[in-house]
Amino acid sequence: MENSGGSAVDVAVVGAGIAGLVAARELEAAGCEVMLLDARERIGGRTVRTVAESGELIEGGAQFVKGGHSATLRLLEESGIALQTSPAAGADVYVEGGIGRRETAPFSGSPERAREYAALQHEFEALAFSCGTGEIVARADAAKLDAESLPEWVSARTDDRGVSRRFVTDTSFGMGSLDGEVSLLAALHYANAAGAPDLGHERFIATGFSTLVDALAVQLRETTTLLDFHVDHVERANGGYEIRSGSRVVSATQVVLAMSPVLMRCIEFVGLDVVDDWIPGRRWRQEPSVKGLLRYERPFWADTGLSGNVAGDGEISYLINTSTPESHDLTVLWNLGRHDRSPADLRRTMLDFAAEHLGHEALAPRDVAITDWSADPFSGGCGSPLSPGDLTSGDPFAFEFAPGLVRAGTESSPIGWGSVEGAIRSGFRAAEVLISGEEQKGADR
Ligand SMILES: Cc1cc2nc3c(=O)[nH]c(=O)nc-3n(C[C@H](O)[C@H](O)[C@H](O)COP(=O)(O)OP(=O)(O)OC[C@H]3O[C@@H](n4cnc5c(N)ncnc54)[C@H](O)[C@@H]3O)c2cc1C
Repeated sequence: MENSGGSAVDVAVVGAGIAGLVAARELEAAGCEVMLLDARERIGGRTVRTVAESGELIEGGAQFVKGGHSATLRLLEESGIALQTSPAAGADVYVEGGIGRRETAPFSGSPERAREYAALQHEFEALAFSCGTGEIVARADAAKLDAESLPEWVSARTDDRGVSRRFVTDTSFGMGSLDGEVSLLAALHYANAAGAPDLGHERFIATGFSTLVDALAVQLRETTTLLDFHVDHVERANGGYEIRSGSRVVSATQVVLAMSPVLMRCIEFVGLDVVDDWIPGRRWRQEPSVKGLLRYERPFWADTGLSGNVAGDGEISYLINTSTPESHDLTVLWNLGRHDRSPADLRRTMLDFAAEHLGHEALAPRDVAITDWSADPFSGGCGSPLSPGDLTSGDPFAFEFAPGLVRAGTESSPIGWGSVEGAIRSGFRAAEVLISGEEQKGADR
């Protein structure tokens, strides 16, 4: 139901990920006529149900919830979606140079290295939690902290390459930087909003954030959703906007662009200098990941006193025990970037890694699901790293481009960016800004 330049809807929300769905829900609830547009043939964005080898649908995107992610926790509770806790019993395995060691905490088998790791953690956390949520960029020394990369900060404190590599991965994995060029300030800011450094993998939704997408979608009663609508142009017209996908046009008085800035840069903005000059959006980088689920008949790792959690220092960064009372699952988190490896190769590498560190039974899973985000043209990547200087030399979270044209999406949220938390917050904010703008116009009339 494209309106081909005829009567305009009140708001077009471009991007039907969690940010766009939240924005559409709030705008619809405020009485706006909303059209939700997405380039894909499905909604959900960086959440997706992947078909496992058994045919079962398994979450291939977002799943974990960090303690400080209050907007996420609120929305999950409101939607009746339960959180599970990773079973913690047993020793974790930490891999260094291909060799796995059983440990209760990083380097617990080696007191001196454990002290070095703990000292880094202590200093990092003292900095990260020196101020309220999101306020770290207002510290007097913010520019100094932003001038340095996280690996540089760590290397200045320890000569132990194993300790520094482990600390950098544990602290910045979710930001998804393959080259490690993450600003120290960005890493502190990211941890500050999450309420903890990055290793927040204890709590998760067994069915993944696709369950939240479903819950949001059923609340959209009046909103029209157009899929397979890849926006390539946004143009100022008739006091509003024309949003184009090839020859298809949707007209709207206001627009929310709810997507990764990497993809936003692919849209041509006509007659909109503010957007063309939008420097902060150019700062974001993104790299795709591979997510795997290995499901077993039984938790065989417990036979040898292991928890099922493995932290690697090679290709695969983590195996996380995401078992529930109903199934025995290990989730593979792997920041692989763009690659040309075959699905069979990815599968073999995951199973070999699990077998090497947890036992031979890992080679015989009951089910396997692999989601390779490098093959996905509409996510822009998975994590969202900021390099040194990015946070303080511009505003990467700038979100109001032009009258009635706002940005949403996780990377636009100063709190919880890169996570579902940022997506939710950005969706609420975009709706709020547009609704209050309309109210203001009404009051001025
Ligand atoms: C493998 C993986 C694991 C993750 N794990 C977690 C986790 O455990 N916990 C957590 O909190 N976060 C996690 N994340 C991050 C989380 O998924 C994202 O931060 C969040 O889903 C982003 O939502 P969004 O709405 O901002 O963007 P998106 O979900 O990317 O939605 C944007 C939408 O815009 C559409 N779009 C893009 N360009 C156009 C265009 N030109 N025209 C029309 N439509 C367009 C896309 O198709 C997409 O549907 C993970 C991400 C991945 C990929």
